[in-house]
Amino acid sequence: GGTIEVTDLVVTYGSATALDHVRLSVRSGEMVALLGPNGAGKSTLADTLSGILTPRSGTVEVGGRLAHIPEGRQLFPDLTVEDNLSLGGWRSRERDPAFVFDLLPRLAELRKRRAGVLSGGEQQMVAFGRAMMSRPDVLVVDELSLGLAPMVTRDLAAHLVALNREQGLTVLLIEQNARLAFGVCERAYVLEAGRVVAEGPCAELAESP
Ligand code: ADP
Ligand code: ADP
Repeated sequence: GGTIEVTDLVVTYGSATALDHVRLSVRSGEMVALLGPNGAGKSTLADTLSGILTPRSGTVEVGGRLAHIPEGRQLFPDLTVEDNLSLGGWRSRERDPAFVFDLLPRLAELRKRRAGVLSGGEQQMVAFGRAMMSRPDVLVVDELSLGLAPMVTRDLAAHLVALNREQGLTVLLIEQNARLAFGVCERAYVLEAGRVVAEGPCAELAESP
């Protein structure tokens, strides 16, 4: 798996500081959670890791290929599932989604459906598969559970865990739902108002008030 090394990261929107000297590191094969309330700076960190935002100062080093499941999923609703997947392969020139159908068999059943008619959970599965098309070493997942029923979320999380355990995929799971994250990650960072206010093993964080 890949690695993430963030040191002393400062990101601003105009005069507003969204990330304030953030330090975070994820080792190869780890599954780490990034928790925090709305507005804490989680998406800003994801967008900085993806290269969409440029740091004001500090460093962001990603070892390996990084893929990002964005919070908004951003599928093409009028394209089929397999065409949405093919579009996700541009970074690795991968066009054939067959290997993603092996990883996520449910997507093979949906391949000819238009993405726009699928349920929220199915759409999140497509977004997941599309991210895997670039054959990433690190996967950043922004709000896996957003708008999904708990059972659907658990099913998607189980697929993530399997990829982490079986393929060594490094995962940064960005979540507002701490209980979900504690259930699948070993370690977590807690972000509040742009600062890391806690970090450590999930078992310890889950006990602290
Ligand atoms: P999140 O749930 O991650 O906090 P939001 O719903 O706050 O996301 O933001 C949705 C979109 O609006 C994002 O693209 C974000 O960059 C943008 N956005 C968020 N806050 C502001 C703001 N204060 N001014 C302008 N754009 C914003
Ligand atoms: P989170 O993902 O944890 O909800 P965000 O990274 O979306 O937090 O936002 C962090 C802070 O930056 C918030 O105060 C938000 O309003 C602000 N923000 C996010 N995007 C923009 C933007 N495009 N322009 C201005 N402010 C933004």
